[in-house]
Amino acid sequence: MKILLMGPPGAGKGSQAEKIVNEYQLTNISTGEMFRESYNNQEPIGIEAMKFIEKGNLVSDEITNEVVRLRLLKKDAARCFLLDGYPRTVTQAVALDIMLNEMNSKLSAVINIVVDHEIILERMVGRRVCRSCGATYHVEFKPTQKKDVCDACGGTLYQRNDDKPESVKNRLNIYQNKTMPIIEYYRGRGILHEVNGMQTFNEVYKDIQNILGEPV
Ligand code: ADP
Ligand code: ADP
Ligand code: ZN
Repeated sequence: MKILLMGPPGAGKGSQAEKIVNEYQLTNISTGEMFRESYNNQEPIGIEAMKFIEKGNLVSDEITNEVVRLRLLKKDAARCFLLDGYPRTVTQAVALDIMLNEMNSKLSAVINIVVDHEIILERMVGRRVCRSCGATYHVEFKPTQKKDVCDACGGTLYQRNDDKPESVKNRLNIYQNKTMPIIEYYRGRGILHEVNGMQTFNEVYKDIQNILGEPV
């Protein structure tokens, strides 16, 4: 099973990914998460990427494609994976097709989580992320038991710099101009599924499960 999870920033990709990869035993590959981790470790790629991420801009296709290529070559990605947040440009979508072709592999499904702009804004300003394990919460919609402390690992929560209003606006523009065209690219291939992301966490997950079938 090789799945792409798409949707605007704040659509709930990361939240759904957490659950899907557990239930379906898939390797979770999130480019955003990989960049943040690399930055936390003060690696050159992470430091370079964060210059773009902070302002809400995309990291270059060259860097991003290379990061994904190396990740897909690892053993745990050979059979089953879920890609969250990649591809985000047509150039990346084409590069992914070439990579998969070379591996004699292809995508099983592309799931697009659809959410209106007003809802995205309230989701992003309230999003909080665990500094230690990357788990995602929301001050209102998914609060932690103890304020600013991760339920999963006890780590401290923080607000991503790119979730501040100035960056969010830019990210939504970029989504519309650069990422939306990919949706049509996959629709044309007949592997695109759309789910309504403006439901509860569990309702969205149920719709995704209906598309993927029961986990085996
Ligand atoms: P993405 O990875 O697409 O940017 P996230 O999974 O990080 O989205 O979700 C963005 C924010 O919205 C998080 O704070 C998350 O807790 C919250 N969220 C996600 N899905 C829902 C939902 N169905 N209802 C309410 N809030 C949600
Ligand atoms: P969100 O959960 O809000 O959709 P991500 O965690 O997926 O955000 O990504 C955070 C940031 O990392 C993006 O705004 C972008 O700057 C960078 N990034 C992530 N994936 C890509 C990609 N495929 N191409 C370019 N930049 C990316
Ligand atoms: Zn944590």
